[in-house]
Amino acid sequence: MDAKKTLKILYLYPDMLELYGDYGNIQVLKYRLEKRGFGCEIERYSIGDNNPDFTEYDLVFAGGGADQEQSILAEDLIKYKDNIKKAIQNGTFFLLICGAYQLFGKYYKGVDGNIIPGLDIFPYYTEAIEDRKSRCIGNIVINVKLGDTYTKVIGFENHGGQTFDVFSPFGDVLFGNGNKFGDSKEGFFLNNVIATYLHGPLLSKNPVLADYILKYCLDMKYNDDIKLVDLDDSFEELCRNELLKRFDI
Ligand code: GLN
Repeated sequence: MDAKKTLKILYLYPDMLELYGDYGNIQVLKYRLEKRGFGCEIERYSIGDNNPDFTEYDLVFAGGGADQEQSILAEDLIKYKDNIKKAIQNGTFFLLICGAYQLFGKYYKGVDGNIIPGLDIFPYYTEAIEDRKSRCIGNIVINVKLGDTYTKVIGFENHGGQTFDVFSPFGDVLFGNGNKFGDSKEGFFLNNVIATYLHGPLLSKNPVLADYILKYCLDMKYNDDIKLVDLDDSFEELCRNELLKRFDI
């Protein structure tokens, strides 16, 4: 019998980057894989652990964090810059939320004015507003093109950082702020990298996005066009409809 098709996920800095249930994203991916008979292996990496080889993973996930945590881990993350670049080039999918989104850019200037160097893999940069009370906080809905179809992606944002020079945004803002106060664009999306301010957790509110990522990873790993059977998402749909109604979208 063929071995079960299995995805390997690397969860980065789980002790420092996990705001508003970011880990829920991995739980959603695992659940949606296992319901369909696929396997899911989750490994974690944080400071002090053995060096990971990012190219061995199908998906790398990192969540959001406070400025303090971001400044601590940035130095560690930069050690892996070349290996991370290689993994991106090889097709590993990267899902990066908020604080992690910022750290893949040129730099993040924190609320105290301190510059936290980013991986500088993508040319955007982020600067926090000096007034620490001035943050983009609240529900957010964006219109995202996944393949040939548009889907409304719902989440929650809480960031002081304002991100500039995003040449390939994740979506158009329908409700909320996005990359900066009052922006019309949100996040960064290029091939196998989605970087976004949307917590939520993102994937529990957006099963279509979860399946888009899973299909990408399975097709990439098994060099196939794998059909994902439909799951019963009726609760998710009820929740989504209710939220969209509340935001008048
Ligand atoms: N500390 C960053 C900011 O305030 C990221 C916050 C987050 O990850 N939610 O912009």
